[in-house]
This record gives sequence, C-alpha cells and structure tokens, in this order.
Amino acid sequence: MDGYKVLIGLEMHCEISETNTKVFSSAKNGYSDIPNVNIRPIDMGFPGTLPVVNKKAVEMALKASMILGCEQPDYMFFERKNYYYPDMPKNYQITQETKPIPVGIHGSLTFDLDGKKKTVRINNIHLEEDAASLDHYGTFSTINYNRAGVPLLELVTEPDLRSASEAVAFLETMRSIYQYAGISEADSRKGQIRCDVNVSIMDEKLDEKDPKNWGTKVEIKNVNSFGGVRDAINFEIERQIEAKENGTYDEMEQQTRRWDEDSFTTIFMRSKVDAIDYRYFVEPNIPKYKISEEWKETIRKSIPKLASERKEIYMKDYGLSEYDAKVIVKDKAISDYYEETLKLGASPKASANWLTSVILGYLNKNELEIKDLYLTPKMLVDLIDMVKDGKISSKQSKEVLNKVIEQKQEPMAIVKKLGVTQISDDKTIRDIVVKVLDEHPDLIEDHRKGKNTFDFFVGQVMKSTRGQANPSLTAQIIKEEIEKR
Ligand code: ADP
Ligand code: MG
Repeated sequence: MDGYKVLIGLEMHCEISETNTKVFSSAKNGYSDIPNVNIRPIDMGFPGTLPVVNKKAVEMALKASMILGCEQPDYMFFERKNYYYPDMPKNYQITQETKPIPVGIHGSLTFDLDGKKKTVRINNIHLEEDAASLDHYGTFSTINYNRAGVPLLELVTEPDLRSASEAVAFLETMRSIYQYAGISEADSRKGQIRCDVNVSIMDEKLDEKDPKNWGTKVEIKNVNSFGGVRDAINFEIERQIEAKENGTYDEMEQQTRRWDEDSFTTIFMRSKVDAIDYRYFVEPNIPKYKISEEWKETIRKSIPKLASERKEIYMKDYGLSEYDAKVIVKDKAISDYYEETLKLGASPKASANWLTSVILGYLNKNELEIKDLYLTPKMLVDLIDMVKDGKISSKQSKEVLNKVIEQKQEPMAIVKKLGVTQISDDKTIRDIVVKVLDEHPDLIEDHRKGKNTFDFFVGQVMKSTRGQANPSLTAQIIKEEIEKR
C-alpha cells in the first residue's frame, strides 16, 4: 500500500424484518423455507394490482434516518427504476432516487475502531422493495417471490472509508443500530444484509478532499457477508496497485465486478459505459404525501437506547470495564439477557463476569446463540445466588452451569444430583470440628507451640463432609474452638 491511499464507499442494503407485511403489499414479511407462500398478486406483477405504502416501514426508515443524523423530507415520494429481469416481474422496482429528498440525506456515523473514533458521511438512505430470489440449477432456474416486495433500506456512504477493517467496523455498527432500533434482525446468514463495495486508490500525496484526485472507482456488487466485504476490498486494493505498478491502470475503465467466494477474486461483470439506463420517473400509483412534524417527533421519541448508550451506562453505573461493556453490547440478544438478569436482582458485576468469561466462551466454542441456550437469565441468577449464599463454591458453580446447559435441567436439580451442595451451616460444621479436635489433643498442643497442624484439621473436616464444608467458615470455627480449649 506504500504510496497509495485507498478510498472506499459502501452501498449497504438491509431488509427491514420487523414489519408484519411487505412494503407495498399485504403479503407476510417473513422468512419461509417453503418457496412462494408469502405472496400476493402484486408481488408477481399481476395486472390490475396497486401498491399501498406500509406506514410502519416508512416509520422505521425515518427512524434509521434520524439515528444517522440525516435531514428528513417533508413529503414522502417514490420512483420507478425500470429494468427487465425475472426477479422483478413488474419490470420496475419501486424505490427512491436522491432528489428531492428520500428518507434521509447528509448524515454521518461515528464508530470506534482500535480505540480511535472514525466518522463517515452518509450521502443518503432510501426505502425500496426487495426483488424475488432466483436459484439456478444445471438446466433450469426457479423463482421464489417470498422476498419480492420485502422492505429494503439502502444506505449510501461517501467514500470516506480507508481500509477493509474500517469498512467492516462501519457495517458492524450499522448492523447493531438496525438491531437495537428494532428495525431488522440484520442477519447476513438470512440474506438480510447485502453490500455493494466501491474501491479506488490514489496517490498518497494528493489531496483527497478534491474528487478530481480520486482514482477510477470499481464497484463490487452484492457481497453478502462481512468477511466477503473484507476479502473483496483487500483483493481489489492489491489488483489496482498491481495495475498502477505495471502501467495498465490508466486503461482501466470504471467497472462493475463481483466477488467470487470460490476463486477468492473479483470478476469483471460490465463496464460503466454499458451501464443500464434505469429511466427513473415518479411512481404514479403512489401519491406524494406529507410527513407531519408531529409524526416525526413521535418517531424521534421512540428511538430506544442504542449499543453505545448502553455501553456508557454499563461502565458508569454498573462499574464494568470498557472491555466487558463492549463485549456485552456487541450482540443485542446478549445485552438484553444481561439486563434481564439485573432486573431479577443479579449484581451487575457478577452477572457480567459469568457472561463474558463463561457463557460467551461456551457459545463461541459451540457456535450457538444465546437464545439457543437452555440457561435462562433466571437460572443464571439462581446460580449466582447459590454462590453468594455459600450453598455451592464458585468452583462447583462452573460445573453446575455446564451440566445445566448440557443436561437441560434447572440448577437446583443439578446441584441435588451432583450432591455438590456446600455446607454453610454453623452448627453442622462446629459439631464436626469439635469431634476432630477431641480426637487429636496432641496436635492442638503442637499448634500452640507454633507447628502448622491447622491445615490438617481443615483437611479432616473436608474429608468427613466429602469436600462440602464451606472452607472459610470451617477455618474460622476451628480457630474459635481451639481458642476455647
Ligand atoms: P454511481 O454514479 O456509480 O452510482 P456514486 O457517485 O453515486 O456512483 O457513488 C456510489 C458509491 O461509490 C458511493 O458509496 C460513493 O461513496 C462511492 N464512490 C464514489 N467515488 C468513489 C471513488 N473514487 N472511490 C471509492 N468509492 C467511490
Ligand atoms: Mg438501490
């Protein structure tokens, strides 16, 4: 990368998963393993059908726009983007161009990367409908309209990102925002997030503020995982630098490529001169309508605490380390789980310790999500309480936790089964101590003379309780009983 600066701009598509129905149709908005079940005639472009705007989808789009500090429109409008492909049977997609204003323009997003803050300008965010999905087989293809008309948010950044790591950190922050704001599950494994990645390189010494100095942009279409985004960018940087070094860069035209997971390369699709003319025009079947200030205000007030705010609270109010707070808020489901344990009375630190040191490790190792875990927040709180009340030792509690998860039984049942209950009852322990001391008067003498026989007494108590006596209470009682003699 010596001598070059990298410019990256992202177009991030995220399906809104949290509406009941599609963006312009009353078909269910939901994932199904069975093709072509969530459909209405309009999703297949039947004549005589008309779009009806889903208010909730617009509300969520405006919410995202507000979170990104964008300017919102006073009027909502839609446009037709005309193209001919089987995934869009109407022969056009209902979307929004940037003029006058889609759901948002001129925003920004700030995120942390390696302890530093990075701000990326948002060019615009707009609401559109997703296309159907095609599956290709040896001699035929199938079409599934379940996805046709699912509300889709497209976010376009300025080319402010400078590396693959920055691009991935940006996407992770956006995913978190979509999840925390209740807009989308934003699960790339369900195909809910897809990105177009734009990459160019330029002479390091030139001023990047002046677009005249920017290099030729290459667009990589439809990258559907964050790992793919990282690999595609790194591959493309190398490829463009090589073109500079071997003198072919100036012939390189602005082009669209695609990321090929199998060969781990980007592959040429089309040159920009062959760009499709989409002949945008205003969608005549959806009248432009006013977005009132009251509605905007209601939406603004409905924005919940996002990951960054929860992280601040965890550090300031709960005394967690920055690392622990960050690990917990990274996944909304984990953060919700954590807050649930606090509501049930767990100490913030104890609960955070369990989550970060034991539970997350278990989830990672077994590639599970917290919702798949048998251990509920209530069970975790019960376990923490048992340690706190001295019923089991903290060492035993780890074993109990593993057994709860693996055998799918409540902590109390496991404790009974393992017989690991800790004895913390003063009288029970005292009776055993007295008996041990009575049996070894000579060793009490030795102890008084300064010989270490104390550990022997502790050992005897442990032996007769099969290791279940509370160790600190045992030590204290032995001391008291020796002094009495
Ligand atoms: P297009 O005309 O191809 O749609 P735009 O100017 O609308 O291009 O930009 C689309 C995306 O490409 C945006 O995310 C933008 O940040 C990015 N982009 C524009 N120019 C460059 C560049 N020179 N290098 C990298 N990304 C760029
Ligand atoms: Mg688009």
